[in-house]
Amino acid sequence: MKIIDLLHQRPTLSFEIFPPKNHDGDISSIYNTIDELAKLKPDFISVTYGAGGSTTENTVEIASKIKNDYNIEAVAHLSCIDATPKQLTRIINSLKTNNIENILALRGDYPKGYDPVNAPHYYKYASELNEFISKNYPDTFCLSGACYPEVHQDAVSLEEDLQALKKKVDAGAEYLITQIFFDNNYYYRLVREARIRGINVPIIAGIMPATNSKSLLNIAKLSGCNIPYNLSAMIERFKNNPYAMKEVGLNYATYQIIDLITNGVDGIHLYTMNKPEIAKEILLRTNNIFAEFIND
Ligand code: FAD
Repeated sequence: MKIIDLLHQRPTLSFEIFPPKNHDGDISSIYNTIDELAKLKPDFISVTYGAGGSTTENTVEIASKIKNDYNIEAVAHLSCIDATPKQLTRIINSLKTNNIENILALRGDYPKGYDPVNAPHYYKYASELNEFISKNYPDTFCLSGACYPEVHQDAVSLEEDLQALKKKVDAGAEYLITQIFFDNNYYYRLVREARIRGINVPIIAGIMPATNSKSLLNIAKLSGCNIPYNLSAMIERFKNNPYAMKEVGLNYATYQIIDLITNGVDGIHLYTMNKPEIAKEILLRTNNIFAEFIND
């Protein structure tokens, strides 16, 4: 099933996982994670993609299992920076053969040591990957893209970022998933400004329950997202107590989700960090909120 058809029915609930990075190449631990996530009955699970190397194959393998063994819709992430048309064709053919109908088409993070100005490349932006897939695989995949409530780090302004986002949607992205944010006002601003510019596709909110102060600060730094004063005060107060920090992270994410659903969000995408217990805790706190829509 194509995710856009689910999004037309109700706010979706989805999870993001990443292929485990084990030195011996064994990825079997991810199936314990998926076993637990599957019990929570998400609308879809997305699998991240690391450019180059064996992890690209792992994305296809894990997404295929989610779709064909667990019977849950899978979204395979795919990035184009550093890729050749031949490599992309091989991976996309493999997704098609494995019945994967949904691709999150990304530029991707620059690989270590990558020189974005001088390195030879076929593709510079995610919109070009959307064009490649739309042209070579018409009506085969439901494509989606990433978007940034607090503006992508390479963009000089919100306006420039939104113009780029419009190109991505015009090139085939049927819905968008946001980068993490801890202040819902940035999400509401993105939706408002996108609509003004004719970007009318569903925008799913990416939420990360931040249950560990160190990783929270690290991820906020890497993704360039702000930590609101009330959250940073809680982190400062409880950072040395992992149990209290866990409660802070779970309750903060729960509040964000309830506020977003109250205000008509198109979907919630949980960055699970491969920790099913975190997703489970969030669902315990929001089950009745999501049930409202299922019973409608
Ligand atoms: P783009 O949409 O190409 O945008 C990149 C920059 O270029 C932006 O500043 C944009 O404003 C600008 N731009 C875009 N198009 C144009 C244009 N036509 N003209 C001028 N400027 C333009 N990374 C991974 O490596 N693997 C993953 O699995 C992965 N999953 C992700 C999932 C989500 C939900 C999100 C939000 C991010 C994910 N990322 C992943 C990170 C992402 O690859 C990086 O944020 C990357 O830096 C940008 O990717 P993009 O697809 O948004 O790029």
